[in-house]
Amino acid sequence: MAQIIDGKKISTEIKDELKARAAYLKEIGKEATLAVIQVGKDPASSIYVRNKKTACEYIGIRSLSYELEETISESDLLELIARLNADANVNGILVQLPLPAHICEKNILNAIDPAKDVDCFHPQNVGKMSLGEGGFLPCTPAGVIQLLKRSGIDIAGKECVVIGRSNIVGKPVAMMMLQENATVTITHSRTNDLKEVTKRADILIVAIGKPKMIDDSYIKEGAVIIDVGIHRGADNKMCGDVDYEKVFEKCSAITPVPGGVGPMTIAMLMKNCLSTIEE
Ligand code: NAD
Repeated sequence: MAQIIDGKKISTEIKDELKARAAYLKEIGKEATLAVIQVGKDPASSIYVRNKKTACEYIGIRSLSYELEETISESDLLELIARLNADANVNGILVQLPLPAHICEKNILNAIDPAKDVDCFHPQNVGKMSLGEGGFLPCTPAGVIQLLKRSGIDIAGKECVVIGRSNIVGKPVAMMMLQENATVTITHSRTNDLKEVTKRADILIVAIGKPKMIDDSYIKEGAVIIDVGIHRGADNKMCGDVDYEKVFEKCSAITPVPGGVGPMTIAMLMKNCLSTIEE
């Protein structure tokens, strides 16, 4: 019987710790402010943005909302970021992705002051994370590490296989598992004989973006499965990149979708935001 890694419960634990920290900071006259920028009205982005603002309210972080027209020019968006960079009252800046095609995401993300880059997308912060020099940690990968640690799963010395090499999930989570002393292999769409590699994993982290692709034929008996994927089916039901029912009997622990990695991402974003405030 597999252990279900409860991301909802663990993320609430973390948010409650942050809430206590925010209350203490308020007592000594300090408050964090997160600026959230959304361009256009993509429904999925609107849900993510709303969830982030709700988490800010819960913890006691002030949020500033910038809902911009789909047609805004790149230079106008850069101007807003420059203003927020210069504003001493703003601690974190978040630009909800994806951006419309006429705006270069890289130009925008690189313009955010690294000290306010709470998503940890700026090359300077990615470099620091890779070197293990502290500072912001990327939210979804940091959420994965917290899920493992707070569920009592040892990482050091374990064979960890990551499926997916995106800059947002696959690459940084592999780096962070390495930092935690796992033996890490990264696989991707061009990997030969994927199953041969994934079956070696004590801990399998799946970030592919393909609904239910990973079934029991990809995993070793007793493996820990972290499913980063999020999909909403035609029936409006959510699922991950892992076929939960098929792997459940074979694995020793697994994150469900929903209620696994998803809620952790926002909790870690809040943690980054609050970490900008010094006592
Ligand atoms: P992406 O599309 O940027 O990257 C997908 C990766 O999977 C690529 O590196 C690709 O090489 C690999 N891949 C694709 N097909 C493959 C195959 N057949 N075999 C092996 N590898 C294959 O996606 P992403 O941004 O890393 O996101 C991955 C999933 O995680 C998506 O479902 C996304 O919605 C979800 N996600 C969830 C959260 C969260 O908060 N829980 C955050 C970010 C992404």
